[in-house]
Amino acid sequence: MQPAPSSVQALGALLMRQKSAFAAEGAVSAECRRQRLQQVIDLLVRHHQSLAQAIDEDFGGRPAGFTLMNDVIGALASLKHARDHLQQWMADDQRPPFAPYDQLGAKAWVRYQPKGSVGIIGTWNAPLYTLFSPLASALAAGNRAILKPSEVLPRTAALVAELCAAHLDPLLVAVVTGGPDLAEALTAQPFDHLVFTGSTAVGRLVMSNAAKNLVPVTLELGGKSPVIVSPTADVAKAAFSVAVAKATNAGQICINPDLVYVPRAALEGFVAELRSAYCALNPTVAGNPDVVAVVNARHLARVEALVQDARALGARIESMPETAPEAADERRRPLQVVVNPPEQAQIMHEEIFGPALVLLAYDALDEVIAQINSRPRPLALYYFGEDLQEQQHVLDHTLSGGVTLNDVMMHAALHDAPFGGVGASGMGHYHGREGFLEFSHLRSVFQAPGYDPRREWGLLPPYGEHYLAAMLAQVTAD
Ligand code: NAD
Repeated sequence: MQPAPSSVQALGALLMRQKSAFAAEGAVSAECRRQRLQQVIDLLVRHHQSLAQAIDEDFGGRPAGFTLMNDVIGALASLKHARDHLQQWMADDQRPPFAPYDQLGAKAWVRYQPKGSVGIIGTWNAPLYTLFSPLASALAAGNRAILKPSEVLPRTAALVAELCAAHLDPLLVAVVTGGPDLAEALTAQPFDHLVFTGSTAVGRLVMSNAAKNLVPVTLELGGKSPVIVSPTADVAKAAFSVAVAKATNAGQICINPDLVYVPRAALEGFVAELRSAYCALNPTVAGNPDVVAVVNARHLARVEALVQDARALGARIESMPETAPEAADERRRPLQVVVNPPEQAQIMHEEIFGPALVLLAYDALDEVIAQINSRPRPLALYYFGEDLQEQQHVLDHTLSGGVTLNDVMMHAALHDAPFGGVGASGMGHYHGREGFLEFSHLRSVFQAPGYDPRREWGLLPPYGEHYLAAMLAQVTAD
């Protein structure tokens, strides 16, 4: 087995070999695509335990059950959905030719052709999902791929590389390992498409690098996903949903609730319900195997600094659970709820991505909508309430990657609906048919009829006296 390439030269050579193999292959049949997806499915099914163990060790505490649900089953769902639907997705799409060629026997259709080699850069919070779910769409569309796992989880990255090298042809799916330098070099390669999952700041660098080779990009970025709790909402239900989300992966999820807007009169009730729901899920922190650790010391310091900055600016901080003895050798932490921080606090602007949350009291819904619209467009938006007109008003006056109503994060689990951001939270999609389209070139084909009428109809030079009149007659507004 070859070690995973980790140098820029080896990466460049690998990409050239993949591209040559792609060019030599020509059309990729539905059966071949299904077999390729099945190989990846088999790899994950066979090695799910060792992968979950590596992730647990890299995090310093992440339950295997959660990794199976979030990463393994999540990726399998994308791979199986693609396997089972790709034949209907890839069928040529007949289109009506224009008049008068439609009367003369012309034909037109759209072909969905693979683009070639896709580079996929993953992140650490969903280390398998952010590699294998986009890979499902890329393989369904007939492409090849080179994956780059996040260096933040070194055991996981090495294992993904080892397993892919053992089970998959590197000219079909290869893995390269390394840090930001290699990732940066990867985005400068002439791929046929790039998928990047990560922060908005690095997303800008990726797009700028990709632009040098005109490589199209799918950017799956982050942001501050807001939750709007309407005066008509069931406060206990809303607080429970937010508590469950914050207890999931310790809030290290791209679509995690970040800023929660609560009617002023309901704020204290919401805090109490949140405390009760969160503490029922995680009654203790240190040594509790259900609590996911913050991934490393750098991210822990980042989240703690956001909370500390808000505290220094006078914000009230609620710790859930209240007393949480910290073990020096672990990074499990209680949820820190920052109540009404001032606008200049860093936590009002930077994505939290960890065990903290902002609660903001509001008086009028349109003020909340104006605040949300004054910030970069979020990856997700959540609305809790029973007023359907108000719900429609929120949907009509905001924009986010996706939305869940009366719960949080659920829309991301839809296999047959696009997942992606908008504006600062990203561009492009994977999942479902839209993922297949993302990695396909939509190639229009026109098949000319046997008879070309243009000479006979006076449409070619030398133009006769009727040509201009015939054209003028067609400049109509109906
Ligand atoms: P990050 O941006 O620091 O790193 C992500 C990846 O980028 C890593 O593999 C890293 O090696 C690579 N990288 C670093 N520097 C690079 C460069 N100059 N050029 C190219 N690649 C480079 O993000 P992170 O800390 O790993 O992940 C957290 C972020 O990811 C959060 O913002 C979160 O919201 C976002 N995220 C988004 C989604 C989504 O689907 N939209 C999913 C998970 C996480």
